[in-house]
Amino acid sequence: MTIKQAQEEGGKRLQAAGIEEATFETTLILEESVGMGRAEMLAHPETELADKQEERFLALVKSRESRIPLAYLLGRQEFMGLTFAVSPGVLIPRADTETLVEEVLRHLLDGMRILDLCTGSGCIALSLLHYSNGTTALATDISEDALAVAADNATALGLGDRFTTIRTDLWPDTAERFDLITANPPYIETAVLEGLQPEVRDREPRIALDGGEDGLRFYRRIVSEAPAHLCADGWLFTEIGFDQGERVRQLFVSAGFHEVSVIRDLGGNDRVVKGCWF
Ligand code: GLN
Repeated sequence: MTIKQAQEEGGKRLQAAGIEEATFETTLILEESVGMGRAEMLAHPETELADKQEERFLALVKSRESRIPLAYLLGRQEFMGLTFAVSPGVLIPRADTETLVEEVLRHLLDGMRILDLCTGSGCIALSLLHYSNGTTALATDISEDALAVAADNATALGLGDRFTTIRTDLWPDTAERFDLITANPPYIETAVLEGLQPEVRDREPRIALDGGEDGLRFYRRIVSEAPAHLCADGWLFTEIGFDQGERVRQLFVSAGFHEVSVIRDLGGNDRVVKGCWF
C-alpha cells in the first residue's frame, strides 16, 4: 500500500464511519504510522508503507472507526500551541477553552498565584504558566487519574517546579488566597449528554462533563465559595456552555462579584464568565 492509497482508503473508511474531518484525521494517522510529516508525504505519495507501518495505520483507522477520539489514540492533543498528553481519564482539551486562557492572560501579571479547579489534563493552568513569568499554580481535581496526567504534563513542559496538585472535590483545604481562580467544570445538562457525538458520550469521562440537571451544579458551588479563596481584587474565570451566559452571569452578580462580563469564543458563542472580587 502506498501513502496515496492509504490516504484514500483511510479517508473513505472514516467518512463512512461518520467522522467529519475524515481526510485530515487520516493524514494525522498516516503521519503517526509512517513517521513522516505531511509535506514529505505529499511530495512522495508513491512511497510504499513498510509492513509494520501498514499494520499500525490499519489498526489506528479501525480504532478510529469505532469512534475512539483521535487524541486518545495518539495520546496527545495540541492546545495553546503546546502538546498535552491525554488519556481516557481526562477530557480532551478543546479549542473553545483557549478563549478562557486568552482572557485570563489579559489579567495575569508576573509572579501571580493561580488556583485551577477541575484541572483535568492541566491544559489551562499549564498554558497560563508557560505564557507568563514567575507565576505558580495549584490545580485540583476529584480524579486521581487526571492529576497524574496533569503532573506528567507539567514535567514534560518544564513547569514541574511551578505546578502542584491536590486531589479534592473542588476546593483545596487551605487558608491560602489566590490572585486568579480558573475553572472549566462539567457543565453539560445530564439529559443532553445522551445526544452528544459518540466520541464524547461514550469515550470521555462522564465525570468531566455532567453538570447536573440544569448544567449549573458546579457554578453554584464555585461562584458562591470562590470569594473565600480570592485575594482582594482577585478574579474568577469560568468556562461555560453556549447557552449559560446569562444564568452564570447572574450567579456572579448575586454572589457580589464586580465587573462581571460574558466573553464570546471565536465561533461567536458565549464561552467565559469573569468577575472581580474586592
Ligand atoms: N466543551 C465540552 C463539550 O462540549 C464540555 C466541557 C465541560 O463540560 N466542561 O463537550
